[in-house]
Amino acid sequence: MKAAITILAGDGVGPEIMSATLKLLDKVAICKGHDFTYHEALIGGIAIDQTGSALPDETLRLAEQSDAILLAAVGGPKWDNPTAAVRPEQGLLKIRKHFGLFANLRPVKTYPALAHHAPLRAELLDGVDMLFVRELTGGLYFGPRKEQDGGSDAYDTMLYSVDEVERVAHVAFRAAQMRRKKLTSVDKANVLAAMRLWRSTVMRVHEDYADVELEHSLVDSCTMHLLTRPSNFDVILAGNMFGDILSDEASVLAGSLGMLPSASLGDGTFGLYEPVHGSAPDIAGQGKANPTGMILSAAMMLRYSLGMESEAKAIEQAVEDTLASGARTADIASDGRFISTQEFVDDVLQHLNL
Ligand code: NAD
Repeated sequence: MKAAITILAGDGVGPEIMSATLKLLDKVAICKGHDFTYHEALIGGIAIDQTGSALPDETLRLAEQSDAILLAAVGGPKWDNPTAAVRPEQGLLKIRKHFGLFANLRPVKTYPALAHHAPLRAELLDGVDMLFVRELTGGLYFGPRKEQDGGSDAYDTMLYSVDEVERVAHVAFRAAQMRRKKLTSVDKANVLAAMRLWRSTVMRVHEDYADVELEHSLVDSCTMHLLTRPSNFDVILAGNMFGDILSDEASVLAGSLGMLPSASLGDGTFGLYEPVHGSAPDIAGQGKANPTGMILSAAMMLRYSLGMESEAKAIEQAVEDTLASGARTADIASDGRFISTQEFVDDVLQHLNL
């Protein structure tokens, strides 16, 4: 199969983890007879330095001609002035908006080999494998608002339309069908009108997915259950703010920020895939970056944009086997012994059975 992929390495550890990940994609292409074309382009701080814009038009043009975007990370101390007119994260917001990416997918999986890195007891972490589907372009973060403006009040509005909930619910139910067929929809329907619309809409969409078990969870009890019985969750669907908070809460279960991938999807199969972490400028250029979040983002791209489920699974298995064999980057090494980013990827390549 042919696929065009826009490659946005960005700043900090971005180029290191991206080049490591492309080695794996190259092996997938060779072994499975795929033809991947990479369009490398600029985003973030490096784009500001070279073009004056955090997301140059050329990057958008290349991305529009691609099947998916693979993005590492943007930002760093050089561009961190919050009052600057042009800032690296503007590139992220603009590209998500340009492609109408309304669903953010964040898997959180624990690995037995890393259980001691997480703050919960190992027996609670056994079998944790969940996928957050967060609505990304609506809700409280985008509703009508008023700043304090010198007066004595300010407000934000949680506004959801049936259409907005339906489209993200379809993404979540389809994802559940590809997994263990269980969906937990998070809301606050006992208090908020927008969340009653959320719940009734999710229940209607459920009628199209009889093979998926649906449960509703109030956000406050969900925060507790993520810590008391995390392995019970499969797919968790939440609005923008609740999904933001819950997915960060759950991310600590994985043991390191460097382990976590994400995908942002819109209508159709096009998607943007990036690790959850930032550009880690404190370790950039030292071979200390954990490439796992980036590698697993590429696996998500194979699954959701390119329809290559078996290749995606093969990469995920290779990562698991590499960790089980004892290979550790600096962030997940408990005894001070660790290997470099490139060495870790070479290990993953060796474990990759296609
Ligand atoms: P960060 O995620 O870059 O780093 C937080 C901590 O985690 C650091 O100690 C870092 O070394 C470590 N870390 C992160 N990724 C790692 C990896 N792959 N392997 C090993 N360790 C890793 O967050 P920060 O320090 O708050 O932000 C640094 C810069 O990144 C800032 O300019 C910020 O604006 C930007 N940022 C970008 C994104 C993005 O591109 N999506 C997200 C968050 C922050």
